[in-house]
Amino acid sequence: MSTNSELNLLNQKIIYDLTKFTTTDYIGHLSCIVWFKSCNLRCQYCYNDDIVFCKEGNYYINDILNFLKNRVGMLDSVVLSGGEATLYDLSDLCKKIKDLGFKIKLDTNGTNLKLIKKLISEKLLDFIAIDFKAPKYKYENITGVKKYDNFIQTIKYLIDINFDFELRTTINSLLLDEIDINNMINTINSLGYKNTYYLQNFIETPSNIGNIDKGNDINKEKLVTNGLSIQWRN
Ligand code: SF4
Repeated sequence: MSTNSELNLLNQKIIYDLTKFTTTDYIGHLSCIVWFKSCNLRCQYCYNDDIVFCKEGNYYINDILNFLKNRVGMLDSVVLSGGEATLYDLSDLCKKIKDLGFKIKLDTNGTNLKLIKKLISEKLLDFIAIDFKAPKYKYENITGVKKYDNFIQTIKYLIDINFDFELRTTINSLLLDEIDINNMINTINSLGYKNTYYLQNFIETPSNIGNIDKGNDINKEKLVTNGLSIQWRN
């Protein structure tokens, strides 16, 4: 029998798109990516504005599940991304994905600790990638919301329970400079983050929410590491 939360999700087109195959999003795995529509943030550099402002997606949850049933043995994992996937109660969907034998990676901005805790307690997540948007003093300006403390609570929790996750930051020098990035490195160091911190350059796109340009390159020699493993992805 379907639960109420399941029925709510099943009856809405909340999936914006489906990437049927990738080897680069969940490293070491053969994955598909499920792109959930809408987001609770408005990051200035976001080039997924079509997903963020989407009123109705293109797929139902059942479309995704039917696709996955045909990919058993061909893919080993599902990436839940967006937009922001944690806007939705993902429990029932994750259970069905797990029942088919797939691992689950969640891409998130880390602002919904309640749902993340629930999914982890139900053993429905294998890996989480979280965007560290900005230092506290710039978070609202860059994301449009006051959610920095929610983000910090989430990573504190994941560090405390030793959950497998990564932090990553998109760098546009018009928004974040070397001082800001060093502040962020010091913040996660002080919280006890031990995994690799990934930095990725903003890629100029025809449109983004803040209508911002590319900016200059960051001077990597000015960045501290304080023992943290830092890798650039582009
Ligand atoms: S970059 Fe920001 S606004 Fe865009 S989808 Fe991610 S969290 Fe949402």
